[in-house]
Amino acid sequence: MDNAATTHLSDAAYRVYIDALHNCNGNASSAHSDGFAAFCALSDARERISSMLSCHPEQIIFTSGGSDSDNLAIMSCAAYGEKCGKRHIVASSIEHHAVLEPLRYLESNGFSVSYVVPREDGIVDVNDVISSIREDTAFITVMYANNEIGTIQPIDEIAAECKKRGILFFTDAVQAVGHIEISLDSVNIDMMSMSAHKFHGPKGTGVLYVKDRNLLSPIIRGGMQEQGARAGTENVPAIVAMAAALEDSLKDRDTKNAAVLHMRERLIDGLLQIKGAQLNGSRALRLEGNVNVSIENVGAEQLVLLLDSYGIAVSSGSACTARFPAPSHVLTSIGVDNVLASSSIRLTIDEYNTPDEIEAVIETVKDAVYKIRSVR
Ligand SMILES: *Cc1c(COP(=O)(O)O)cnc(C)c1O
Repeated sequence: MDNAATTHLSDAAYRVYIDALHNCNGNASSAHSDGFAAFCALSDARERISSMLSCHPEQIIFTSGGSDSDNLAIMSCAAYGEKCGKRHIVASSIEHHAVLEPLRYLESNGFSVSYVVPREDGIVDVNDVISSIREDTAFITVMYANNEIGTIQPIDEIAAECKKRGILFFTDAVQAVGHIEISLDSVNIDMMSMSAHKFHGPKGTGVLYVKDRNLLSPIIRGGMQEQGARAGTENVPAIVAMAAALEDSLKDRDTKNAAVLHMRERLIDGLLQIKGAQLNGSRALRLEGNVNVSIENVGAEQLVLLLDSYGIAVSSGSACTARFPAPSHVLTSIGVDNVLASSSIRLTIDEYNTPDEIEAVIETVKDAVYKIRSVR
């Protein structure tokens, strides 16, 4: 029940991964046939991923994952802004830390950032984005779907506003890719990040889509891999497995989403039967698999541990910060108070879960909440 933190490797990705680990060991930059085989595997993966996203192969930059892509995008957009004398950025206040921390770094280096707080339902209002734009705004960054509360943002509209004004638009789509179909030929996104391990691919590999490669400023310099955009020998087995995982994820997506949605609605209804429970974020405009609830008078850390002892994996806040308990910046942004924020758990399901599991989880959470409350 923690698929937003990571997902297991799909069978399709596993087979391709193992096969490539055995049979595709060349360095894609080498001139000999071993290297050429790796180069071909890489090109094939690039081609397939671009066709699934409706973009061109040369717009796909392979990276080490979501954090890498986010950093490359933010630093590139900032460098571009700097060249034009623009040092202002508009960002949502509920971005992932892999976006927020590079922004903080830029703030300590002469940039200023306007953080747009979403409405109480966890959706960023396009008008609030527009009213934050200044003469010197270099770029806007709003994530596609939030990793904690699953809310899906009005990306198409924000992208269109950016285009009108000649402002770059970057979106962290790590939670969206593989779950929502994205056609990059019909929306004005300048850069978009994704990560394989969020859609049943291997960890440590991802993509930055970039509409115009001239916008890129490398943060890892060295060899000419990825045409100089990101140095370092490509992890070919992981990359080909990522392509297989994405194909597998997008196959019959509508049917899978319908099944996941059905389970999610049942899960929400079941959990809201608990006294003092509330759902965080819009119920309608959220990822099919995301449930985030606050349960009064129940410490999230305690609940997570108790559920783990019953064999159920859920998250309090987001996994990246779970070891450093502080109220989630996402929950406090949408007006959840600190106490309730520390009483919040996230359950993220996908097509590998079953309706029986959902029923068992509802009963177990109820039982765990009862136990925790009765010993207070
Ligand atoms: C997981 C995640 C990331 C980080 O991706 P990694 O591949 O783990 O570095 C970035 N943004 C969002 C929204 C995420 O969910």
